Amino acid sequence: MVVERRPPMTLRDLRAIPVSKLTGVGPAIEDRLATMGIETVLDVLTHYPRRYLDRTKRSDIAGLAVGEEATVFGEVRKASSRRTRNGKVMVEISVTDGDSFLACTFFNQAWREKQLAIGTEAAFFGKLEVFNGKRQMTNPVVDVIGRAGQSEDLTGVVVPIYPQSGKADIYTWQLRKIMSEVMRRCAERSLSDPLSESLLDELDMVDRWTAHLGIHQPESMAEVQAARRRLIFDEFFRMQLGLIGRKRAQEARQLGIVHSLSGELVAQFHERLPFQMTGDQARANAEIATDLARRAPMHRLLQGDVGSGKTVVALTMLLHTIQDGYQGALMAPTEVLAEQHWLSARAMLAGMTVERDAGLFSQRPLGIALLTNRTTAAERREMARGVSDGSIDLVVGTHALLYDTLSFAKLGAIVIDEQHRFGVEQRALLRDKGNEDALPDVLVMTATPIPRTAAMLIYGDLDRSELREMPPGRTPITTEVVGEDSMDRERAYTRLREQIAHGRQAYLVCPLVDGSEKIEAKAVKEEFERLQYEDLNGLRLGLLHGQMKSAEKESVMHEFRTGNIDVLVATTVIEVGVDVPNATVMIIEDADRFGLSQLHQLRGRVGRGGGESWCFLFADPDTDDGTARMEAMVESTDGFFLAERDLEIRGSGEIFGERQSGISDLKLARIPRDEPMVIVAREIAGRVLDDDPSLQRSPGLAHEVEDLLGEDVEFLFKN
Ligand code: ADP
Ligand code: MG
Repeated sequence: MVVERRPPMTLRDLRAIPVSKLTGVGPAIEDRLATMGIETVLDVLTHYPRRYLDRTKRSDIAGLAVGEEATVFGEVRKASSRRTRNGKVMVEISVTDGDSFLACTFFNQAWREKQLAIGTEAAFFGKLEVFNGKRQMTNPVVDVIGRAGQSEDLTGVVVPIYPQSGKADIYTWQLRKIMSEVMRRCAERSLSDPLSESLLDELDMVDRWTAHLGIHQPESMAEVQAARRRLIFDEFFRMQLGLIGRKRAQEARQLGIVHSLSGELVAQFHERLPFQMTGDQARANAEIATDLARRAPMHRLLQGDVGSGKTVVALTMLLHTIQDGYQGALMAPTEVLAEQHWLSARAMLAGMTVERDAGLFSQRPLGIALLTNRTTAAERREMARGVSDGSIDLVVGTHALLYDTLSFAKLGAIVIDEQHRFGVEQRALLRDKGNEDALPDVLVMTATPIPRTAAMLIYGDLDRSELREMPPGRTPITTEVVGEDSMDRERAYTRLREQIAHGRQAYLVCPLVDGSEKIEAKAVKEEFERLQYEDLNGLRLGLLHGQMKSAEKESVMHEFRTGNIDVLVATTVIEVGVDVPNATVMIIEDADRFGLSQLHQLRGRVGRGGGESWCFLFADPDTDDGTARMEAMVESTDGFFLAERDLEIRGSGEIFGERQSGISDLKLARIPRDEPMVIVAREIAGRVLDDDPSLQRSPGLAHEVEDLLGEDVEFLFKN
């Protein structure tokens, strides 16, 4: 008789089995697992250990020296709690390793009494003290391993410790039991591996089943490492398959404009510039030109710090389209920025002409229009005419451009300056302004660099150009962290006074108070008063915050620009778009409360050509993150560096939140730590899709991508 061997199980199979099907999981445990987001067998299998205890590294209690840090494995023999004289709850337990005893004392952790009931086996990590002649640890780190008699499954020397939720009331030993049940069931059929053996060989990776065994039931830490590599690869690989597959399908589906790259305008523009392009600008121009000439619509992100020279790159792109007889649009997030772009475009493109009609040798001036909420109805009508008959070549505007009923004669290229944020939907809306059968090319500019790997993860469907190199002429900024010490503060104020005596100007940014703008305004007003009578007595101070009317703000800014104010005391309203090259000192109060990118933007207000500059960060960080941010600021003025550091400090989850599908699927992978693996996964994903664009021949992979994206691959990847 032939025994039919059932095929190995796929992740999709496991996803279809509810945990209630597992032996030992009754309704009570099922509910508790659900509160941890564990509902299916796949959820169990991808609930990975937080860390491992290596039992070969245990210490005998008797052999420990006083003051030494060590991990002790033991069983709880006594547990009690009482209140100390000053009202604290104190839990005392006694632990034995079989030979000797160790006392552990916990303060204000009443729940330890329940957690560490008599008979519990656990690992205790801490520093050995001797008190009243007894060996003890105070508030050691505890990992519960199991209950005596319940952890017989624990034979290995490496013990996985699972993340557990106190709320859900599931212990790591319970999870380990459920896990062994899952592993036992999976072992019957094993797990199918969507990667071919030759690919595994090439990548020097273990197969999927081995990886799951190695992460959950390792016999050595080396097995854990090999397992992690494979599973981290899988997390990135699925995501990259989704991103690249979708992008390629879109490219094949969407018809764009094939730009000719011939004509005079671009060359003329470059000749007229009073400077040479930086190497990065030239590279970005070339990357954009290549895209413009392709049939597929361009969708590119141009990243560069404020002042890195994005504008000339953007104008170069717009002139490519204009010289081909198309129109361009340039959109900014605020009225002020739209006006600034319009002014600089007019200045830089002044005197340029375009051919009136193809084939005729008559020229007309290049037409540039500005559209904001301030544009009057009459102006708008006039502009609408020019845009629809093609006599306006370039429209600069705010979001108003999106919602306006403008209909372009021939929209060829769009630049979106998003500074910080600009939704994907809005990009799509603007794209729709183009001709249906030829989508315009789109360039998105951003001044808040997204770290490279993060961009690969989030914007895997966007191409990127980076301006890392700053144009010559930037002045160096010295950054210093100033603590509570009043002498140090005095030095900062002295530097500020010295600079003002030299005719320079300064900013002083005030605490970011959590809560409303009102509270912030109050804080800055008080500080303004105080400074006027104390530290900055005798200087001409101006006050700027978000609660002021626009006319008031405008007038203060005007006074500052024209040099009638020495020091601008402000909230973060000055973060974007304020450009006063004469300012050389920036003082930021309570700097550790700001995020890195915000600090970087604030510091960017100085060092803009006026002369050597200083940035003083008044801070007494009481968190590790705060300290790390201050150190990063002192270490570098490079926005890209700071963005990477920010990612390291905050972790990917917090930066992207849940808004990006797939990020929550990264359970083991961390960026930037695993950056090299993203690159490998991306390359392999590209190769697999070269061969099999809609994954028809790899149904296993197709299913995994579908389950990740929640959509049908055949539909997504269809050309
Ligand atoms: P961004 O838009 O990236 O903030 P801008 O395009 O406004 O930066 O450029 C900042 C300043 O640097 C402008 O005054 C611009 O004319 C100047 N600039 C741009 N590129 C160069 C270059 N290659 N060499 C010298 N100056 C440059
Ligand atoms: Mg194109």
